[in-house]
Amino acid sequence: MFKGIEASRGIGIGNICLVVEHDLSFETRHIDDTEAEKARLNSAIDRFKKKTAAMAESVRKNIGSKEAAIIEGHLTMISDPTMTGEMSKRIEKGQCAEAAVNAVCDMFIAMFGDMEDDMMKQRASDVSDIKNSLLKLLLGVKDVDISNVAPGTVIVVHELTPSMVSQIVRENVVGIITEAGGTTSHSAILARALEIPMVISVPGITDVVHDNETAIVDGIEGTVYINPPKQVIAQYARKREEFIKAQAELKNFFGKKTLTADGEEVELFCNIVTPQDAKKALECDGEGIGLFRTEFLFMDGTQLPTEDEQFKAYKEAVEIMGDRTVIIRTLDIGGDKDIPYLGLEKEENPFLGHRAIRYCLSNPDIYKMQLRGILRASAFGRVKIMIPMVTCLEEVRSVKALVEECKRELKAKGEDFDENIELGCMVETAAASLIADILAKEVDFFSIGTNDLTQYTMSVDRENANVAYLYSTFQPAVLRSIKNIIEAGKKEGIPVGMCGEAAANPLMIPLLISFGLTEYSVNPGFVLSARSIISKWSKADADALANKAMALATEAEVVALLKAEAK
Ligand code: PEP
Ligand code: MG
Repeated sequence: MFKGIEASRGIGIGNICLVVEHDLSFETRHIDDTEAEKARLNSAIDRFKKKTAAMAESVRKNIGSKEAAIIEGHLTMISDPTMTGEMSKRIEKGQCAEAAVNAVCDMFIAMFGDMEDDMMKQRASDVSDIKNSLLKLLLGVKDVDISNVAPGTVIVVHELTPSMVSQIVRENVVGIITEAGGTTSHSAILARALEIPMVISVPGITDVVHDNETAIVDGIEGTVYINPPKQVIAQYARKREEFIKAQAELKNFFGKKTLTADGEEVELFCNIVTPQDAKKALECDGEGIGLFRTEFLFMDGTQLPTEDEQFKAYKEAVEIMGDRTVIIRTLDIGGDKDIPYLGLEKEENPFLGHRAIRYCLSNPDIYKMQLRGILRASAFGRVKIMIPMVTCLEEVRSVKALVEECKRELKAKGEDFDENIELGCMVETAAASLIADILAKEVDFFSIGTNDLTQYTMSVDRENANVAYLYSTFQPAVLRSIKNIIEAGKKEGIPVGMCGEAAANPLMIPLLISFGLTEYSVNPGFVLSARSIISKWSKADADALANKAMALATEAEVVALLKAEAK
């Protein structure tokens, strides 16, 4: 058994096709006729662009537009004159085209690879994909062709590139195993869209497997078996059937209200990152957007997005959602989310530093640009504003004052907006939880950010593997905090939602029903499973379980109880 990371859920059993990438080594030559060499490079770039555009079209037809945009991203990158200009410059100095492509791409790969943000890191593998494609064209090396694999194939490859995924015929590929890549890599996103089970980061797997050997890909647990005994195959065949059946049952919840077993209705919203994700939320039957993480808009470019650019992005999501609620969270930078062009000061403890609402309030011009963008988008649907990382009442009051200022400015310009736009805050710090009763009097709604609430309550850096054993929402301290927040909100009659990952956790859901959570915001892929779990619990059953859970002293006991009584 080999252990990797689950990147696309499901079980695949089939015959291995080991994809061996062609050798792309080349001899570095000195070039005298630099004009001819530049023409050779430009011809390779042109052919790359044509091939990539065709690939994007095929992905649009076979998978979807959002996924095609990933491939189109390669076109945008190669059309950037900084990259191609640098290649030409190197050729002018006598480097051959292969060496120029190699050096420039490696420079970008190193630059993106060093960035802390996952999305930026992902660019490194995009550039690596571009580099390999250009070298193949320059060296006349053919692409490995995985479009013709036999039905029932498990693809094993060092790194799956988006260009490879675009060749995959869904009906023939039952699983994918890779040595490299991350769960947020574009190829993993594409594999999930194709619903092909995938396990990534399996060290050395390409060295030990051969074509036509049998493989089991368990994309639920992140495990891989090569040439397993018959009984293991039979066991996994059963697991595969159960998974398929469970997925089919979930489809029964599509288009339904979200009701507890005793008929209490709650809201089931989605977390999104880009305006286009709103489409995914609708496709997955989300009832609204409970958290629009707006950082992407700021992280994607090389300079601050203007008010107009922000307005357009927010309006796009709002229009996709029609009359459904869209809760837009204002800029939550700092901590793990850097925006290089803002030149944020490096701090000893970035999670405790000048971040999120703290940064925004000390840079009111930047913040007001965003607030005006959101306000203008509110003329097109049901928009709410949400403040991240609140720790004291003054922060909420300052934001309110800025919102009022923005309203006056927009009015003076004759711009439309929702005069009664609701303003809520995330409760994700220990401080906010402890003063939830005070904050509840000042805001229109709460949304509990359990990802950070766990971090700040347990004093555990959410990214530090050494202390990950303490990072659990089921720690009695975190559970008490959640309960306290919900009760404080209920007392003031404001709705309390949750947009941290815990809202989708089947073990957590009965506790949230008991505490009285009114809105769950989950990643689009979890809408139906959350609706299904919510439907299994009545308030009385949930209360009985919560009473027992809240009386326990350790996380291990809580988890054991919740697992034992899970429905
Ligand atoms: C949270 O902290 O729970 C949350 C939803 O926000 P983020 O993960 O973006 O910090
Ligand atoms: Mg947070």
